[in-house]
Order: sequence, then C-alpha cells, then structure tokens
Amino acid sequence: MTRVFNFSAGPAALPEPVLRQAADEMLDWRGSGMSVMEMSHRGKEYMAIHAEAEALLRELLAVPANYKVLFLQGGAIGQNAFVPMNLLRGRTSADYVDTGEWSKKSIKDAKKYCTVRIAATAEASRYTRVPPQAEWKLDPNAAYVHICANETIGGVEYHWTPDTGAVPLVADMSSNILSREVDVSRYGLIYAGAQKNMGPSGLTVVIVRDDLIGQALPITPSAFDYKQQADNDSMLNTPPTYAIYVAGLVMHWLKAQGGVAAMERHNRAKAALLYDLLDASSFYSSPVAREDRSLMNVPFKLRDEALDGAFLEGAQARGMIQLKGHRSVGGMRASIYNAMPVEGVKALVTYMKEFEAAHA
Ligand code: PMP
Repeated sequence: MTRVFNFSAGPAALPEPVLRQAADEMLDWRGSGMSVMEMSHRGKEYMAIHAEAEALLRELLAVPANYKVLFLQGGAIGQNAFVPMNLLRGRTSADYVDTGEWSKKSIKDAKKYCTVRIAATAEASRYTRVPPQAEWKLDPNAAYVHICANETIGGVEYHWTPDTGAVPLVADMSSNILSREVDVSRYGLIYAGAQKNMGPSGLTVVIVRDDLIGQALPITPSAFDYKQQADNDSMLNTPPTYAIYVAGLVMHWLKAQGGVAAMERHNRAKAALLYDLLDASSFYSSPVAREDRSLMNVPFKLRDEALDGAFLEGAQARGMIQLKGHRSVGGMRASIYNAMPVEGVKALVTYMKEFEAAHA
C-alpha cells in the first residue's frame, strides 16, 4: 500500500491512525456486531458516539455552556441560506465582509432572504488581503455580520477577531476550524463543513449562542431550524452518523496531538516552511499580503505558467497530488490541514527547490 501526500483543498487528507481505526472497526464496532454505518441513530451505541463527538468538540474549542453544538447535513453552502433564515430575528438586513470566492457565495445566497450590505470588500486588492477593521462600515441595526474566516481558494485568513459590538459575528470556518485557537465567545455563530479538518464530507457543524435561536423565518425547513435541531440533540432527522463517528475519531487524534494550541504551533511551522520558500524565491510567488496569509491553504504561482503542467506532473511522480490551484485563480495551491504531516510539506519544499534549480 502506498499513501500519497494529498494536498487537496477538500475533501482532504485524514490522519492515517484514524483511517486505520475506522477500518478496524468497520465490521464490528467494539463488540456491537455492527458497523457504525448500520446503527440506528436512536440506539445506545450510536447515541454514545454522537455524545462523545459533541463533548470532544466542546472541549477542543472550549465552547461555552451557552452555545449549542449542532451536527447537520447540507454543507457550508447550505448554511449560506440557513444562517439568514435563523438569525434575522425580525431584522431585514445583514452585513457581509467580502474577502473572496466563498464570501461571494455566502452573499449571493443571503440576498434571497434579506438585504445584504457589504460592510467591506477586498475586491480592489483582487482578494489578496483581509480589509482591516478600520475600513469596515458596520450597520448597528444589522442582524449579524458575516465573515469567511479562511478563504480556501484565495488563501486569505483572518489572524484577528473582528469587533462587531452588539451585533453577532458569524463566521464560516469550513477550512480553518480546529486548526488554531479561537475564542468562541466572540462569535454569535460559527459554521463549518467537516471535510477539511474534521472528517468526511456530509457533516456540517454549527456552533451557535443560544439566545440567537428560536426565531427562524417561517419558511425555514425544520431540518435546518437551529432551535428545533438543538431541542432534539441534532436528531430531528437522521444525522450523518458515519461522518460524525469519523469526526469523533479525528478529534480524539487531535487531542492526543496536544489539542488545538499544539496543532496551531504545528500548523504555523508547516506554513512557514512554504511561505519562507516563496518569499526567498523569484521563481515562485505568493499573491497574498503577508499578514493575511492562510495557514491552511497556500496558493502560489510559478514565474512562468507554461511550466505549471511540468510542475504538477513532477509532483505527482513523487507522490504529491492535488496541487493545482482553483480554476478561478490558476497557479498552484497546497492545502496543508491538520492531517498533513510536516514530512509532506518538507517533501513539497524539497521538490520545489529541485524544480526551480532545473528550470530557473
Ligand atoms: N466555505 C468555505 C470556506 C469552503 O472552503 C467551502 C468548501 N470548499 C464551502 C464553504 C462549501 O462547503 P460545502 O461544499 O460543504 O457546502
């Protein structure tokens, strides 16, 4: 068996020990005689798996007691609609900060449900920076302020927490949840698709302050009404049971690595290996402003894009895959989530140096 270094933006690499454990437990989960996939979500075995996954997430992110943790389906894109449906609370307008492709998608869907004000945009910089808060024009009557904490495509990440006063801050953390410490109490709501740092696709996590729920628009589907799901421990409908089980294994693994603070140190060290190389080279370049560079998604360009194909082929031959940048930005992108070992980043850096030496 050969495992590649998988730099995919998502679904992404999972920790190998997690995959091995899931394989070991595939046919018979801990003497139950069943795979987790075959369990009733109302049975005692699955209920324990579910409760443990929630407890681990609460522990790893130090989620305060007045926040609900929901395990839903529908992806982060689904949340682009479910957030306004649930959080407008009688208001008609919400503020959005536009930092790139994923913010734009959030804005587009939110416009179906409310007036969207763009409180700030990074468009003028071609989405290579996070607009500093001094540039934001916030509306005190907004229902909430929405940000994308890490733009997976553009590689732009917030390294600070916006201050939105009494207006709840909502963050799409799909591509950086559990990669670094966050003060959950500064947010009204955090959501994330699981398929980058948490587990397989199919699970969407919502962490929401409990005073914000219970006033969903009447059109809100019950499966996506946060209050109804909170009252039913995310079991108003069948939750994505297998994805939740694997997410629990991933969180156990993360805890064994020392938790989120230790993972953040590790992630900073990994990202620095790549950014240091990009900054030292005139052959490669990073488009993103230094202070806003993502620790998770590192886009970069070759000086001569005619070499892109050869670069990707050479990487593939060395067992490094999924380095092609998103079609909207071109170039390369290395996604280096929690499960990417430092050895993978070192192998990439070594290859990049060799490629530069051969083609510069
Ligand atoms: N937001 C961000 C920041 C993402 O990276 C993604 C997925 N790449 C999404 C939203 C969409 O997530 P999903 O496909 O789970 O709906």
